[in-house]
Amino acid sequence: MTSESERELHLQRAHYNTFLLESRHVIIDLLTDSGTSAMSSDQWSVMMKGDESYAGARSWQNMEKAVHDLTGYPYIIPTHQGRAAESILYSLLGGKDKVFISNTHFDTTRANIEYSGARAIDCLIPEGKDPSRIYPFKGNLDVDQLERLIREHGAGNIGAVILTVTNNSGGGQPVSMANARSIREICRQNKVMFLLDCCRIAENSYFIATREEGYDKKSFREIAQEMFSLADGAIMSAKKDGLVNMGGFIATKDKRIAEACTNLLIIREGFTTYGGLSGRDMEAIAQGLTEVFDKDYLHYRIRSTTYLGEKLTAMGVPIVKPVGGHAVYIDAKSFYRHIPVEQYPGQALVCDLYLAGGIRSVEIGSVMFGKYDLEGKLIPAEMELVRLAIPRRVYTQSHIDYVIETFGFIKEMKAGSRGLKIVYEPPFLRHFTAHFERI
Ligand SMILES: *Cc1c(COP(=O)(O)O)cnc(C)c1O
Repeated sequence: MTSESERELHLQRAHYNTFLLESRHVIIDLLTDSGTSAMSSDQWSVMMKGDESYAGARSWQNMEKAVHDLTGYPYIIPTHQGRAAESILYSLLGGKDKVFISNTHFDTTRANIEYSGARAIDCLIPEGKDPSRIYPFKGNLDVDQLERLIREHGAGNIGAVILTVTNNSGGGQPVSMANARSIREICRQNKVMFLLDCCRIAENSYFIATREEGYDKKSFREIAQEMFSLADGAIMSAKKDGLVNMGGFIATKDKRIAEACTNLLIIREGFTTYGGLSGRDMEAIAQGLTEVFDKDYLHYRIRSTTYLGEKLTAMGVPIVKPVGGHAVYIDAKSFYRHIPVEQYPGQALVCDLYLAGGIRSVEIGSVMFGKYDLEGKLIPAEMELVRLAIPRRVYTQSHIDYVIETFGFIKEMKAGSRGLKIVYEPPFLRHFTAHFERI
């Protein structure tokens, strides 16, 4: 526990960037759902059987089988986390003149694509851009715009179409099977590669089962398998729906791509049968990928996220609706109307949540996605969101009730809250290390 005056000091020392806080100074940590899952007793048990052989470990065979059985893809390449997989795959598919199209590129996805010299274009349906609009699949990719973009840039210049399920940066919103099927058709006609960024495919399957016609009798796992069957390959950060603290993979149907990735893997991550992982990590992933499709687990998971969203809505806090899978997103632009976008209203709310309750959250707005024009003026992001990400199997309802109570204080204080300015920023992924000052 910390007092408000202590937190003021911690926040100053962290330059008003919650990524720079020490975790022991945080009471409820909703910074991310990535790598923060509590592992099950079954996962801890299989870790004891970790085979730490350099090559051909049994633990790798277990992970490879689990990923293969789920995705149906023949070539599986282990990596230490999602962005390592992205760095390998997109440095091969990317490069100058190449264009990638996604419902919304996650920040590390965009950074890896742009780092290769390629362009990353977000292509979300209009319903997904309106935080208050109720629509069952707000994560869908705009297929008409996709066809236009392919014509405009030429199919040969498209590095890949990347469907992010669920759509993390777009509010944790699900993507429908029908949308994936249309994308598959367009990609097949144009001979463009179709990839899934499948970090939260189990949560996405839950939404398909409950919202899309014809899927209520299918198991969550069968739904995920159907979606994998539509794509040419996938990238996963197992730190999400793999229910582990570290891990990831590339999986593909394409032998040539797999071979090229393997060469880079050995230079950057490690040998083909461990990537950047230890044997015990690979055991935990194999087990986690099975557990995450458990009916009761997924039901509790999605319901508990929705609970937080429903309570905040009842208090008059504007959130992205309907509530997504792994997080509740506050619409800071409309909640902190008195702070202009150039002064980062989302970051102001992030700081206030920490000060008022020791709650750590993250801005997903112009700090994360803002750019500058030639005069150095901010080109803001489309939305100014604050994400409250819920770690899997960690917090109870009373923890979440405490978060809800803290919003009561925030509502009273917010008129006095001031915006921030950036006083230091790196060229890529600036939100992780930027320094701010209060205006
Ligand atoms: C987390 C995430 C990544 C990157 O994975 P890391 O394991 O954090 O490197 C990529 N895409 C999406 C959608 C993610 O949520």
